Amino acid sequence: MLNKKSVDDINVKGLRVLCRCDFNVPIIDGKITDDTRLVAALPTIKKLIADGGKVILCSHLGKPKGPDAKFSLAPVAEALTALLGQEVVFAADDTVVGDNARAAVANMKNGDVVLLQNTRYRAEESKCGEEFSKDLASICDAFVNDAFGTAHRAHCSNVGVTKYVDTAAVGYLMQKEIDFLGNAVDNPVRPFVAVLGGSKVSSKISVIENLLTKVDKLIIGGGMSYTFFAAKGYNVGTSLLEADYIEYAKEMLAKAGDKLLLPVDTVIADDFSNDANFKVVDADKFDEGWMGMDIGPKTRTIFAEALKSAKTVVWNGPMGVFEMPNFSKGTMAVAECLANIEATTIIGGGDSAAAVNQMGYGDKMSHISTGGGASLEFLEGKELPGVAAANDK
Ligand code: AMP
Repeated sequence: MLNKKSVDDINVKGLRVLCRCDFNVPIIDGKITDDTRLVAALPTIKKLIADGGKVILCSHLGKPKGPDAKFSLAPVAEALTALLGQEVVFAADDTVVGDNARAAVANMKNGDVVLLQNTRYRAEESKCGEEFSKDLASICDAFVNDAFGTAHRAHCSNVGVTKYVDTAAVGYLMQKEIDFLGNAVDNPVRPFVAVLGGSKVSSKISVIENLLTKVDKLIIGGGMSYTFFAAKGYNVGTSLLEADYIEYAKEMLAKAGDKLLLPVDTVIADDFSNDANFKVVDADKFDEGWMGMDIGPKTRTIFAEALKSAKTVVWNGPMGVFEMPNFSKGTMAVAECLANIEATTIIGGGDSAAAVNQMGYGDKMSHISTGGGASLEFLEGKELPGVAAANDK
């Protein structure tokens, strides 16, 4: 369990509470096209309102290189006003903490809500600069971080500000993420099975190394499996291959023994396209000039068998090029399997979350992480700066 102060452990009555949320929502022509992140932030915001705090919300949106109307949080203020059923005052300062913000905060009564402008309007945000961190701290008495998606980065609005505020706690979303991921990795009900896929071995090396010491089985599929095939001496045609990592893959194979499950057959295609010719071959029988696009049917059965008895499963990365329907079967099979087993199932954000939601299995999973990068770093066993910065209990 997370040993950090949460919103349940602090008394914010009458205090100005700066709450860092993840309002990084898709906006097209000024309209929010998916408000999932706003809805997900409501429990913490409502709790702070109910407790009589003066709630000052902040977030980044996209990656502007300074003030840029395209990345204004104005539409978020409007949407939050509707979702909360009370006015969210938008303090539109190009400096984020400027005259508008100071005046809006000075006018707040207990339970009022103000939203600051996009934190990325300040270039120092992503460098954890002192001045902006101090500016943020100057308008609040307490700080709550509920933005898991940025927890792996040390920015002003999630880490820097905590240096200048006495009270720093985490919100409900953050707590849920850490509790699920933390319990899965450090205190799993066994058997504990991890499923890793996606394009590259290189981006998941630390995850593989950390998880191998924790799991009962590690299933590897997707583009990254071909580097392991090459390590076994198989010809992988024109598949994704990271030649620099073949030696590493050999070491992992030796270290992992039968803990590691790799595909035994593969769907190969003569082009990287949904319209390509394709067929199923055994893992060691690739045709010259063809590329691996998905796990094959025998592999789907073997992976499903390994997952059937699992009590804890963490999944990160698709089993194939799931964006192309002809090569999505492996990824879909894993999603279906996880939806139907009696286990704690944790989806590590990004593509796996997209696949699960696409199939309508979202609510069959125990937890779908809101932070792809942050959840990966968590699975690497790293301490996340955004979490570390909160006060211990
Ligand atoms: P990552 O961002 O590393 O998790 O990788 C996700 C991407 O890996 C998705 O866009 C998939 O299409 C891609 N991918 C999965 N399997 C393969 C494969 N066999 N060949 C090429 N790309 C793949």
